[in-house]
Amino acid sequence: MQWPELEAAQQPTWPQDGSLDRVRETLASYPPLVFAGECDVLRSRLADASRGEAFLLQGGDCAEMFESATADNIRDRVKTILQMAAVLTYGASTPVIKMGRIAGQYAKPRSKDIETRGEVTLPAYRGDMVNDFAFTPEARRPDPERLLRAYHTSSATLNLVRAFTTGGFADLRSVHEWNRGFIANSAYARYETTARDIDKAMRFMQACGADFDAMNARTVEFFASHEALLLDYEQPLTRIDSRTGNPYATSGHFVWVGERTRQLDGAHLDYVSRIHNPVGVKLGPTVDPDEVLRIIDKVDPEREPGRLTFITRMGAGTIREALPRVVEKVTASGAQVVWVSDPMHGNTFESSTGYKTRDFDDVVEEVRGFFEVHQSLGTIPGGIHVELTGNDVTECIGGSEKILDADLERRYETACDPRLNHQQSLELAFLVAEMLGQ
Ligand code: PEP
Ligand code: MN
Repeated sequence: MQWPELEAAQQPTWPQDGSLDRVRETLASYPPLVFAGECDVLRSRLADASRGEAFLLQGGDCAEMFESATADNIRDRVKTILQMAAVLTYGASTPVIKMGRIAGQYAKPRSKDIETRGEVTLPAYRGDMVNDFAFTPEARRPDPERLLRAYHTSSATLNLVRAFTTGGFADLRSVHEWNRGFIANSAYARYETTARDIDKAMRFMQACGADFDAMNARTVEFFASHEALLLDYEQPLTRIDSRTGNPYATSGHFVWVGERTRQLDGAHLDYVSRIHNPVGVKLGPTVDPDEVLRIIDKVDPEREPGRLTFITRMGAGTIREALPRVVEKVTASGAQVVWVSDPMHGNTFESSTGYKTRDFDDVVEEVRGFFEVHQSLGTIPGGIHVELTGNDVTECIGGSEKILDADLERRYETACDPRLNHQQSLELAFLVAEMLGQ
């Protein structure tokens, strides 16, 4: 059996009026958002990461929203990722693969199908690709037309991302100046040493006559990724590469399967096993190591470097205990995967003020645990996966600016999980750079 006949978890209940079929046909007639050749380049970059010759930075919203796809928001997210990447490049002394959770991150798995507020119960919000965040019966009704809007908004977003990353905005010298601006804030004085070292390295390169323009320092490779959750969106955008005859998801360069949809006999793993993109699978704290081996057999039977990334999200208090058995088993099987830490999803809790939040210290602690485990096993920490925004939101507590429970209500803007704000993201990059440099 192939995935269209298999059970697909977390799919919306679409209206039974033929509108979904029409939308799927329309999507199938649209051009791909990415080119298969770009996905192949990414796979080879990820193969480098699996050997410790590159480091992946994957970041962006938990749930993108249509109305947030503005020039300023897109610019600030790209800028944040570029700034983090510059710091991480220095820390890792390897290239950093820059990948957004962007231009397609419009569908969300939910732990409950319904949401109750007071006396009212409505279908849960499943991402802008399905329904609207507003808490009214009309807004929460799944609408297939939203799949088309997701495509168009992704297309416009990706267009601007490509413009920013190839048109001069991403020049390493500007990125470096932005980072100097960040460090100028006395709250971040403890990162001055690293910042000064980076500054010296830049001046050293310039003094040696390094030609930044010739070095390609003005353009960067930037990849788009999202969770491949809604198969009614992914299938019509799955295309045959005319060069090789192989199918690719063309909704993004990299897609992943989430913790709630990675059933071995389910549709999602089957789907990603049939496309040729590099793909990810999230692994939570309760995962059985033998199950992980079966995921590898299914998704990466050829053991192709760069093909499969495991994104572990175990929780700061659990990772040191839960991760080693998984990594040991995978390593013993001879598979070469990319190990990435998602230090967000195992560390969510409700604040005393009633907001879903995460503590910056827990995020840092999980990444630290991730590095320690890999160091003790002699395996490779290949990257980090974070929920972040370029805006000054107050969704996660802590960080050097000490966001408190009481601050959360000030700018709590996420449609789903709490994100690191711009400053917290940069602070995390400095801390991870220190871990990488050790
Ligand atoms: C997510 O990445 O937003 C998500 C839902 O993650 P997970 O599948 O790890 O819970
Ligand atoms: Mn999330």
